[in-house]
Amino acid sequence: MKPASGCFGKPPRSDPCPDRNRGVATDSRDLRTAAMAWLDERPHERVDFAWLSTFEFDGLRVPLMDRQRGIRKPAGMDAALAIRTTFTPPGQTPPYADAIGPDGLQRYKYRGDDPSHPENVALRRAWQMKLPIMWFVGVEPGLYEPLYPVWVIGDSPQNLEFTLALDAAQRHFDATSVDLDEDYRSYMERLTKIRLHQRVFRTQVLLAYESHCAVCNLAHESLLDAAHIIADGQPDGLPVVPNGLAMCKIHHAAFDNRILGIRPDDLTLHIRQDILEEIDGPMLRHGLQEMHDRRLMRIPRSHAARPDQVRLEERYQEFLSA
Ligand SMILES: [Zn+2]
Repeated sequence: MKPASGCFGKPPRSDPCPDRNRGVATDSRDLRTAAMAWLDERPHERVDFAWLSTFEFDGLRVPLMDRQRGIRKPAGMDAALAIRTTFTPPGQTPPYADAIGPDGLQRYKYRGDDPSHPENVALRRAWQMKLPIMWFVGVEPGLYEPLYPVWVIGDSPQNLEFTLALDAAQRHFDATSVDLDEDYRSYMERLTKIRLHQRVFRTQVLLAYESHCAVCNLAHESLLDAAHIIADGQPDGLPVVPNGLAMCKIHHAAFDNRILGIRPDDLTLHIRQDILEEIDGPMLRHGLQEMHDRRLMRIPRSHAARPDQVRLEERYQEFLSA
């Protein structure tokens, strides 16, 4: 049921909102659905505060992000509508990177250390009312990757954090179950990495390389990946920009399959000998053989975002041993 106009602003003297007395569970669901449908139609992949401030519902403007606070709860609503994580510069570990719980699910830290702080109360309400929220993760100063719908599915005042489900498959997972099946746990962790870590990593790497393949300069975002220099799951394999390279699908696969290596000292490309000797069509010739001994065509402008030398060296030694 849609609320009458005015439900999310200051309560009027005579209350025109029949839903108000029953709480906002019913009406804020419509608003959430509308906000997520609006995000689906966004003009750009990444969003900023100014654009998020233009959302309207039933003729009222309801900004989806709070400039000052990490947890967004519009006036008149009980429960949080959205959360935000600010941008972490390249090379620094983002706060969420260390926040996968032992159950494989993502954690979100409280605002401050008071469980009864109004922002924490609002996010707890979203959990109690089983309401979906949106999560805006900073990928550049002032630019956010929107993740939605996200659900709060647990609350730990001891650890000052909430547990989030980033995928419908995580939503009904019983995080308190004592005998946690290892296969299920690793499945949960894989979903968390796909939905958050890999997605934000890809966005940050593509932004750093201005959506070009580092090897051949191809500029079609749909054909580009963020390749890890050190694979995810290894000690140095963090989803941070200096551990990444923007590459087209072919060069990414060639890099992962040790057909293509990068010399760390001068960033020149090295194509494996047997591939150089092969005779085949234009993809082999132009796409791979002609890349041999050329320098990377694209590196980030920002020094902090460039590929990390130590990681490149480790990866190049692996390539040489293939
Ligand atoms: Zn390429």
